[in-house]
Amino acid sequence: MRKICFFDTKPYDKTYFDLMKDDYGVQVEYFEPKLGKRTAFMAKGFEVVVAFVNDSIDKETIDILYENGTRLIAMRCAGYNNVDFKAAYGKIHIVRVPEYSPYAVAEHAMALLLSLNRKIHRAYIRTRDFNFSLNGLTGFDLHKKTMGVIGTGKIGRVFIDICKGFGMKVIAYDPYPNKDFDINYVSLNELFEESDIISLHCPLTKDTFHMINSDTISKMKDGVYIINTSRGALVDSEALLEALKAEKLGGACLDVYEEETDLFYEDMSYVVIHDDILARIISMPNVIVTSHQAFLTKEALQNIAETTLSNCREYFDNKPLNNEVCYQCGKGDKCIRENNKRCF
Ligand code: NAD
Repeated sequence: MRKICFFDTKPYDKTYFDLMKDDYGVQVEYFEPKLGKRTAFMAKGFEVVVAFVNDSIDKETIDILYENGTRLIAMRCAGYNNVDFKAAYGKIHIVRVPEYSPYAVAEHAMALLLSLNRKIHRAYIRTRDFNFSLNGLTGFDLHKKTMGVIGTGKIGRVFIDICKGFGMKVIAYDPYPNKDFDINYVSLNELFEESDIISLHCPLTKDTFHMINSDTISKMKDGVYIINTSRGALVDSEALLEALKAEKLGGACLDVYEEETDLFYEDMSYVVIHDDILARIISMPNVIVTSHQAFLTKEALQNIAETTLSNCREYFDNKPLNNEVCYQCGKGDKCIRENNKRCF
């Protein structure tokens, strides 16, 4: 029997994988802890390990997995900034789910913006307490406001369409502009200077780390809103907090946070939070934080389960790994996947 183990498993993951595992002929073992150097030993004897966004797949973890027989890590997510690709290369193949529902994430970004701008989060609490006052709940029309979208891949493009539906002016920045779509590209500086709201839809790389920082915030209009549903470390949280305190920023919608790993996805309501920056950010009336949940729709979970299991089946059947990624991907001659059908 083909055996797969999962790390960082939650009940909503199990629901969809349990429905499909028999169709893919795999036996599944679910582990609750996150994958990292202290938990990697649990995967002993599993050739295939399924991991998630906040697992720590560093060199030490990879070496332990490899020694214990793991040869494939199937990321059940799109992003892979938590994987040390150089350490994995030649030892463990890494596959991912490149697309499961750009709609889920783009719609969540807009849900956050609408909630924050129209103070729905505050109105909900008030009316439950029969407080029907409107004081402090004034928002603004999105119509004719300028939305700056950073990253015009799958999610960014869906988000642009949603914004256009609201009658917004949309400008965008992407180092690899997509000519097939009607997108008004501008430079990053122009985007910072002209946007009323900025939404991040690019990956976390060494180039995008802390792209929202005190310097770039200083270029922005007063009262700008920032939406981050991509990766926490795109934003320098300390600079974000300072700008919120100085009332330079009008608000922040955050589905991700740079130090989220030990907090998000867990019930921390009975624990003293030692992250003063997050605690202060959450205390702001003009901030909404969700716990990296933008992907969480039925359609996305179903697609994640289907693609992850199909990625695993390709590995077990010695087929080309269609969704494999490595540090050589896209690097001209160094990228051998096209001929080899696998990265190594
Ligand atoms: P994608 O690969 O389709 O698009 C990413 C785009 O970013 C590409 O067009 C790329 O050219 C662009 N880009 C690369 N470097 C850039 C830079 N320096 N500045 C601006 N743009 C740059 O990815 P996607 O599916 O649209 O996902 C976008 C991001 O959303 C992912 O990287 C992931 O971090 C995040 N995500 C979050 C959740 C969630 O639940 N919150 C779920 C899925 C994805």
